Amino acid sequence: MKAEKISVVIPVFNEEAVLEKLFERLIPVMESLHRDYEILMVDDGSTDRSLEIMKEHGGDRVIIVELTKNYGQHAAIFAGFENSEGDIIVTLDADLQNPPEEIPRLISVMEEGDYEVVGSVRKARKDSVFRKIPSRVINALTRRITGVILSDWGCMLRAYRRSVVDYMVSSHEHSTFIPALATSFAKRITEIEVEHEQRYAGQTKYSFSKLITLHFDLITSFSEFPLKLLLYLGFIMAFSGVGFGIFLAVARLYFGAAWAAQGVFTLFAILFFFVGTQFFALGIMGEYVGRIYREVKSRPPYTIRRIY
Ligand code: UDP
Ligand code: MG
Repeated sequence: MKAEKISVVIPVFNEEAVLEKLFERLIPVMESLHRDYEILMVDDGSTDRSLEIMKEHGGDRVIIVELTKNYGQHAAIFAGFENSEGDIIVTLDADLQNPPEEIPRLISVMEEGDYEVVGSVRKARKDSVFRKIPSRVINALTRRITGVILSDWGCMLRAYRRSVVDYMVSSHEHSTFIPALATSFAKRITEIEVEHEQRYAGQTKYSFSKLITLHFDLITSFSEFPLKLLLYLGFIMAFSGVGFGIFLAVARLYFGAAWAAQGVFTLFAILFFFVGTQFFALGIMGEYVGRIYREVKSRPPYTIRRIY
């Protein structure tokens, strides 16, 4: 029963300052489990010495997947998933914000509770306010979109069963948010509380625009709500245009021609109606575009240069 292999997947983008420390802490933890394991380091197009450091200090349990350019954290994790062999796959950030010491607990919770996904909640989150506030909004939004009550979607310290990872890999989506995607392929999901630390060294690899892209990906790949919004907006506008027109006609009969300002108001009513129908039409087009968008998502999410 205890023979299941563990894969640890870590995306790396310009993390030269933390990698040695990461191996120093992660490898003893993995050894202490006394079972088969592998560590997949995905070099997400780093331009610093990350790759050399990984080759030098990784040891024989470390597999390095080198991507051709920077595809983003989630695409990098996918590259790791696809090249992993473990029965349980753990994802982790390279910057040591998620302590590797929590991995054994993550795995034991998964095995004892027969869970398919074990997420984690950051007990005391050590990030700037600018990083925390958007996260809070996104957490609430993701709960609504996916309908799964998890409290911390951003924390990447998570464990997945092989079956869930296989489904994710076979779904061929190139812009996606892994913790949310995983929930659609798992039935038993739980969360545990974990420590959170300051980034060990270096800067956050998420610029403001990268953060926006990530969250836009999250919303657009799990719901078509933004498109529906257009449709609703158009409908409401056209409807209020008609309502306004009726009101004007009644008021005109009641108060006489002078009240209606020589038909200026009527013009507004007509305008409202047309603007509304235009939005509506745009919304319908958007629906179709959305469907096409879903179809074309099958483009490869990353390209690997070499595996060490
Ligand atoms: N990362 C990556 N590609 C990117 C951005 C980030 O592989 O384009 C990795 C990064 O090396 C780290 C993890 O994703 O291992 C989380 O990034 P970071 O710590 O900068 O994000 P934050 O903690 O600020 O959310
Ligand atoms: Mg970090």
